[in-house]
Amino acid sequence: DRLRLDDKVAYVTGGGQGIGRAFAHALGEAGAKVAVVDLVLAKAEAVARELNLKGIKSIALAADVSKPEDVQRIVDTIVARWGTIDIACNNAGINMNSASEDTSLEEWDKTFSVNLRGLFLCCQAAGRIMLNQGYGKIINTASMASLIVPHPQKQLAYNASKAGVVKLTQTLGTEWIDRGVKVNCISPGIVDTPLIHSPELQPLVQRWLADIPAARLARVTDLQAAVVYLASEASDYMTGHNLVIEGGQSLW
Ligand code: NAD
Repeated sequence: DRLRLDDKVAYVTGGGQGIGRAFAHALGEAGAKVAVVDLVLAKAEAVARELNLKGIKSIALAADVSKPEDVQRIVDTIVARWGTIDIACNNAGINMNSASEDTSLEEWDKTFSVNLRGLFLCCQAAGRIMLNQGYGKIINTASMASLIVPHPQKQLAYNASKAGVVKLTQTLGTEWIDRGVKVNCISPGIVDTPLIHSPELQPLVQRWLADIPAARLARVTDLQAAVVYLASEASDYMTGHNLVIEGGQSLW
């Protein structure tokens, strides 16, 4: 079965909750060993425990992906533990909301340091291991915001950083494919996470819903098969691709 990931070694950043947690479960269920990486160790540990309970080999690692020493440490730890890295799921990302004219340099730099600098560091550190073994799958999390400007506005730094994720993915994907390393990204639409259940967000949620041909928000389960596909040999001819999963929202 070309979608199986048995004996493959994977990590997921931002794996402690939300989309990253769902990716960790999906990769583990497909057979991979999974290192769950998060800024908050307790969250990573909780997800690693969930995977262990399912019989999936998993470890938890704390790292701030914007720090080169943290990224190198997690890569070294995974290689020391499991011998290599086959699947790198670079998913950690942050989102702040301010009107563009009020966006502080601090907010701009913070957003880019996690969403883009962190991705560069992870792709480079994991990529070196993969280029060395002549095989690897890198899956970055971009966003529908890389393509369109979804409601609400006030996401200048976020939108710009996610467009950067797509170009980074295209560039690495073409540069490394002849050495066996495929680099793709997934662009989710608006995903139904606990984050958007707060009462004050409900008017916005209604506005978003009106913008989605599928007439519902994405669920993390809508994204799980995509990450397994991009991590598997079934997608070996695919690189630099932005897989958009948004219920048609970017087409309206
Ligand atoms: P989330 O906020 O629920 O989870 C993100 C996780 O990343 C958290 O556990 C957090 O602790 C961790 N994290 C934050 N900064 C980190 C850092 N510097 N180093 C390591 N870990 C860090 O977010 P989510 O909704 O699951 O989003 C995951 C990814 O998907 C992000 O890149 C986000 O931009 C993208 N995305 C989300 C949506 C959505 O609607 N939720 C839509 C499109 C794209």
